[in-house]
Amino acid sequence: MVLAEGVSKSYGSNLVLKSISLEVKRGEVLCLVGPSGSGKSTFLRCINHLETVNAGRLSVDGELVGYRQQGDKIYEMHPRDAAKQRRDIGMVFQRFNLFPHMTALENVMLAPALLKKGNKAALKARALELLARVGLADRHDYYPAHLSGGQQQRVAIARALAMDPKLMLFDEPTSALDPELVGEVLDVMKGLAKSGMTMIVVTHEMGFAREVADELVFMDGGVVVESGVPAEVLANPQRERTKAFLSKVL
Ligand code: ATP
Ligand code: MG
Repeated sequence: MVLAEGVSKSYGSNLVLKSISLEVKRGEVLCLVGPSGSGKSTFLRCINHLETVNAGRLSVDGELVGYRQQGDKIYEMHPRDAAKQRRDIGMVFQRFNLFPHMTALENVMLAPALLKKGNKAALKARALELLARVGLADRHDYYPAHLSGGQQQRVAIARALAMDPKLMLFDEPTSALDPELVGEVLDVMKGLAKSGMTMIVVTHEMGFAREVADELVFMDGGVVVESGVPAEVLANPQRERTKAFLSKVL
């Protein structure tokens, strides 16, 4: 579903991603960990085409991100096609970014309604179904300010799912939450993984990585230092940098 081959990205002279290669197969969950500044968010932003890569190839579901290939020529995508490509990828951030003047239900319905993905009644039924899926059926008419951080983040997940994404990207979805609210968000993500969603999750929740992820990738300084089956990497890290990082977060 996601294939990165030698992906590099720089901001000015600052090379932030240095030839990242990895693959996430359909239905798999990859957890991405690493110290601050290692390039995790930048990598997610490249997958979502919020940033363009400077070198290498990045594709989602067999299509180059932001480009199309014809023979051996590569062209930039028409913005309309790039927008469509981005809509197939759900993203959840550390901060929930819900619209404060809209209820939970309205937040979830907004994007599909703008894209006229069905009549109002059908959209509402689908949004209510998604809110039920994240355990918030009884909170659909609440405004974000009247929801806890964990509840807001679950609305954000429902909102991302409303576009029927084929891939979900999570960038530290629980790190802004009070500790007692982390579990409810991770539980929703676990359910999503079980349902077969392909996911890339940047997180420091190693319990989640061990239990849910198919692969754990440790990044530092813009390179993949080490990757493998989470339980194995966590129990027996091979590289000094991985050991040093894990000793801080475990
Ligand atoms: P954190 O754990 O703190 O979220 P991260 O691994 O997500 O860190 P990134 O946010 O990807 O790291 O940043 C990687 C590097 O790229 C940092 O040195 C950062 O300063 C730089 N960077 C990120 N975004 C930009 C930008 N828009 N312009 C210039 N430099 C940037
Ligand atoms: Mg980040």
